[in-house]
Amino acid sequence: MQKIWVLGAGQLGAMLHYSGLPLALEVIPIDIESEQLLDIDDRDIVTAEREKWPKTKATSQLAAHPNFVNKDIFGRLADRLTQKKILDDLGIATTPWCALEQTTEIASLHDHFGPKVLLKRRTGGYDGRGQHWLDRDGDDVIPDDWRDQAIAEREIPFEDEVSVVGVRNSSGQMVFYPLSLNLHLKGILMGSLSPVPRIKNLQSQGEAMLGKLMEGLDYVGVMAMECFRVGNQLMVNEVAPRVHNSGHWTLAGANISQFEYHLRAIANLPIPAAVVKAPTAMVNLIGTQYREEWLELPGAEVYWYDKEVRPGRKVGHINFCNSDSSGLADSLCQLQSLLPNNYAEAIDWLSGNLD
Ligand code: ATP
Ligand code: MG
Repeated sequence: MQKIWVLGAGQLGAMLHYSGLPLALEVIPIDIESEQLLDIDDRDIVTAEREKWPKTKATSQLAAHPNFVNKDIFGRLADRLTQKKILDDLGIATTPWCALEQTTEIASLHDHFGPKVLLKRRTGGYDGRGQHWLDRDGDDVIPDDWRDQAIAEREIPFEDEVSVVGVRNSSGQMVFYPLSLNLHLKGILMGSLSPVPRIKNLQSQGEAMLGKLMEGLDYVGVMAMECFRVGNQLMVNEVAPRVHNSGHWTLAGANISQFEYHLRAIANLPIPAAVVKAPTAMVNLIGTQYREEWLELPGAEVYWYDKEVRPGRKVGHINFCNSDSSGLADSLCQLQSLLPNNYAEAIDWLSGNLD
């Protein structure tokens, strides 16, 4: 059996493991805090479910492995500053930005970017953490220790957030899913929907952008690119060199999920175009307790990550794939009654975007 080691043992590692089983790929997620000495063979393959990890016995062993796919790319994309430079160098449209240096003045940031400027920590941010708004008319202080550790961005008055999820193999073949339409609230992804007819006109643009990046980096595996839509233009918000939350819908909506594609690509197996079965809605479960009633919802495919429930923490997701949009809307409506009230906005948004 081909063994694939994963740096990181969160839900992405678990879903990679699960997706390897039908292909007889033994996928072994490793906790990034592990001090274990791993029994790795030179013929094994190493991948990651995250961009950064602390140095431990296990992570050092994995990071030094000769078959660690994309090994030099993680560090460059994990840092928003080098990620932005790569996008600029490749001529891929991205949110206007600059580095937050020791001498950067707040006034000049407003002169460049307008009344609201978003500071983002270069590393470690997720789910809206590590972000700070500078507001000319309100709170306007740069947090301690953010200089040289953050970038500043223009506020984008986007009409939609979409992501492009694609895969590339070592011979340069690439395949893309239909774009996902995403809703973030307070910086956290609440739900995704794909395919969505009204953003079909952006498909080739999105593919060209992600394709250019994957080619430019000689990347192998699944990559996700989060974009803002302004009119008919996509602009990259950020990219992730791994499987991504906005691609979870593919577990239900496509014959090859993003997890399986990633494994196929790094294990040198075929990556034909996936067959997309029907529109799929994905609802993230965030900081909410498990409810067995979810299992009774028509069409629901429930993924519970078995993590400790904490406010704002992603603890699971539910997919609904259905070619009948009224049936899908119905399932979502039933789900709403089984979730806290703060989900109403996300569920209404998903239902409102069904064809
Ligand atoms: P993730 O969990 O996806 O890694 P993150 O916390 O790293 O997210 P971003 O994706 O950069 O951070 O930002 C989170 C959300 O904040 C975006 O999805 C978007 O809704 C909003 N946002 C980010 N940058 C901007 C911007 N320049 N203008 C307007 N809104 C923004
Ligand atoms: Mg993001």
